[in-house]
Amino acid sequence: MQTLGLRVLLTMASICVDPRFAAENGGEIERMKYVLVTGGVVSGLGKGVTASSIGVVLKSCGLRVTSIKIDPYLNTDAGTMSPFEHGEVFVLDDGGEVDLDLGNYERFLDVTLTKDNNITTGKIYQSVLEKERRGDYLGKTVQVVPHITDAIKDWIASVSLIPVDGKEGPPDICVIELGGTVGDIESMPFIEALRQLSFSVGQENFCLIHVSLIPVLGVVGEQKTKPTQHSVRELRALGLTPHLLACRSAQPLLETTKAKLSQFCHVQAANILNIHDVPNIWHIPLLLRNQNAHLSILKQLNLLSIATQPALDSWTRMAETFDNITNSVKISMVGKYVGLTDSYLSVAKALLHACIACSLKPQVEWIAASDLEDESKKSTPEAHAVAWKTLKNAECILVPGGFGDRGVSGMILAAKYARENNVPYLGICLGMQIAVIEYARSVLGRERANSTEFDAQTPDPAVIFMPEGSRTHMGSTMRLGSRRTLLQTRDCLTSKLYGNTDYVDERHRHRYEVNPEVVQALEEAGLKLIGKDETGKRVEVMELPSHPFYVGVQFHPEFKSRPRRPSPPFLGFIMAAAGRLETHLSFGQNGSASMSL
Ligand code: GLN
Repeated sequence: MQTLGLRVLLTMASICVDPRFAAENGGEIERMKYVLVTGGVVSGLGKGVTASSIGVVLKSCGLRVTSIKIDPYLNTDAGTMSPFEHGEVFVLDDGGEVDLDLGNYERFLDVTLTKDNNITTGKIYQSVLEKERRGDYLGKTVQVVPHITDAIKDWIASVSLIPVDGKEGPPDICVIELGGTVGDIESMPFIEALRQLSFSVGQENFCLIHVSLIPVLGVVGEQKTKPTQHSVRELRALGLTPHLLACRSAQPLLETTKAKLSQFCHVQAANILNIHDVPNIWHIPLLLRNQNAHLSILKQLNLLSIATQPALDSWTRMAETFDNITNSVKISMVGKYVGLTDSYLSVAKALLHACIACSLKPQVEWIAASDLEDESKKSTPEAHAVAWKTLKNAECILVPGGFGDRGVSGMILAAKYARENNVPYLGICLGMQIAVIEYARSVLGRERANSTEFDAQTPDPAVIFMPEGSRTHMGSTMRLGSRRTLLQTRDCLTSKLYGNTDYVDERHRHRYEVNPEVVQALEEAGLKLIGKDETGKRVEVMELPSHPFYVGVQFHPEFKSRPRRPSPPFLGFIMAAAGRLETHLSFGQNGSASMSL
């Protein structure tokens, strides 16, 4: 076996196993262990972070963990959803455009997930309807139960077996997070499928953790258990009984509150976990471990005898290091979707990872790009003044990805300001295109240079439409997922930052590209377009050697940043802001650069 020898083996003959939930191994059956995380009372409880943290604790016990996120909405994937409404669209290696919670799983568990690890109602119905059209149901009436529920169970069974940690063989445990709140109409088929799944895989292979809220009301400040009681009752009415409760609260739960929850929710007192407010999210796995969450889960899954003690030393160091950092760095983020910070969640996380490596706290100032524009001086003078004051105060400026022309002129002004004032600049995807347009306008004198995305009639197209997919459909038509960038020289910042390499593999999500016809003129004017795709046509990386740090990347390096492995362009950007880039590079070139954590 490839899996640390922890899988539970059952002989085919001895136990009647529903084959969908087991992987075969030479006549024996390896049972997948499922941990389902549901949510109750209100949305926004941090169910994703709780589920990822549970995964971290289980992984620290020597188990191989994968995860599935269920989003009961109808969209097939998150690709067409507005970041204003739903937060960022996370992009996977395989090009999957998925819910941002998958980013939490990848970062926390250090795994690489596939698009199938995100299940939506749309995907399930699409697969069932395709089968129906093919005639696979042999004339039967196709119904939610059993056809939709079977499709959900089959999907979970097959996806849970995909290795996600670079090792061979199926993982030991699959953490399934059910999005939404128990009782939502749209999650009903999933609840029913999960109820059936719990029954088919058996007690020892299924552990349900319900995340709930314990509010404090009134002057007396009493911790209220009733909302949790109601949501557990709702869950039980649907046929699922939680084995553990993870209760969110501002302050630690009182013993009396726990006793009440245990009695009324039918959950053992030892299995009532409390996630109270903590200074940073890396404390959550530690909080769970301190309450012996792993013992409760492993006991339920009959894995106690084979799992190891949780080893969370590096998490502890990271959580504590962050608490003790006193210096900060001011980062201006000039974007379109600044109202909802989740719209740039991975960028914010990548900045955080890079800052911790530099022993700095990120002080991110969000600037709505449109507030920097000249028009805003007349329409909203105060916002305009604040935006410029913030920008000028920043130690570094980042323009992240985006779509559509809103705020583009403001982003161009920010890029120009950074270039002319030697302020470190990192342009990601749209942010790189912006820097190229600005350079074409200011340095090449092509005043109307633009992207055809914003001005289809521009006489100077600096950025043009070069889709990999369809020109007519919006869903899944972009240049998506991991693509290779070849660096034309090792004598450039990007190569040095990535460890003196000739190529980098990063994730993409875009339709437009720097116009190959302007590359030569830009290069002659000093802008180096040193990274190209394998055809040599698409520009992937831009650097301005005469500037301390003026870097643009067509890809999204933020998606592969990890807490203890910050993304190289982000690390270089923060090092430059802190005036430590050169030291970092000479240190790194000796092959000795390592994180202090
Ligand atoms: N809108 C630009 C494009 O499609 C940039 C996309 C992005 O920033 N992700 O190419």
